Amino acid sequence: MPNLTENVMPAPKAHSKLKPDEIAALFGAFAARDPAPRGELNYTNPFTLLVAVVLSAQATDIGVNKATRGLFAAADTPDKMVSLGLDGITGHIRTIGLFRTKAKNVLALSEKLIAEFGSEVPGNREALESLPGVGRKTANVVLNIAFGQPTIAVDTHLFRVGNRTGLAPGRTPREVEDALVSSVPERYVLHAHHWLILHGRYVCKARKPDCPACIIRGWCRFEDKTAGASPGEAKTTSPARKRDGTQTLDD
Ligand code: SF4
Repeated sequence: MPNLTENVMPAPKAHSKLKPDEIAALFGAFAARDPAPRGELNYTNPFTLLVAVVLSAQATDIGVNKATRGLFAAADTPDKMVSLGLDGITGHIRTIGLFRTKAKNVLALSEKLIAEFGSEVPGNREALESLPGVGRKTANVVLNIAFGQPTIAVDTHLFRVGNRTGLAPGRTPREVEDALVSSVPERYVLHAHHWLILHGRYVCKARKPDCPACIIRGWCRFEDKTAGASPGEAKTTSPARKRDGTQTLDD
């Protein structure tokens, strides 16, 4: 998952915020097409989910999945990860950016899980954020996916989509997160992160959004929409059909 450090990325041009009925309709469109969206990181349990998300900062999910295939086969619990040791972890993840720091964090968080949490991934934010390498965004992803909590993790894709569309204008990821949490209808919050990240990755791309194929263009307030067929004529390209593994961080 692309990383987004607080206050680093300049916010796109500000747009007025969508009205509540527009936001409800927009998420209704996502829900109608993809009622149960899933992320693209591979994991087998809450621990491997946590490790995969930690590894995904400034890396593609596809790149992380390639590395974790061997890593998780060797170590899918904190105890096994500690047994693997720093060199063993590093050997599995050296294809990922920042692998030295990430390997240290994976080892240290595994040790802390053993020492303080009975080798279990905790299901609350404060405990999660006390783990090495785990910030608010990672905690939000784990709380959402592993524990079913209505959190919304804002990465570079959600930040862009939230601002472009007028869904959740904000100058920082936290502002966008707060705007989303306060305005997305309760029934849609659990899946909002995945709908928006997939939308940002495959349709509302950074350099050239695919507006003609966009199912929410009718509500979007982005002034520089790309030209093409009207929504009714547009081929509603499914993100799933475009997951060809070639995307870069902002694609
Ligand atoms: S209409 Fe274009 S800019 Fe707006 S959300 Fe869709 S792809 Fe993004």
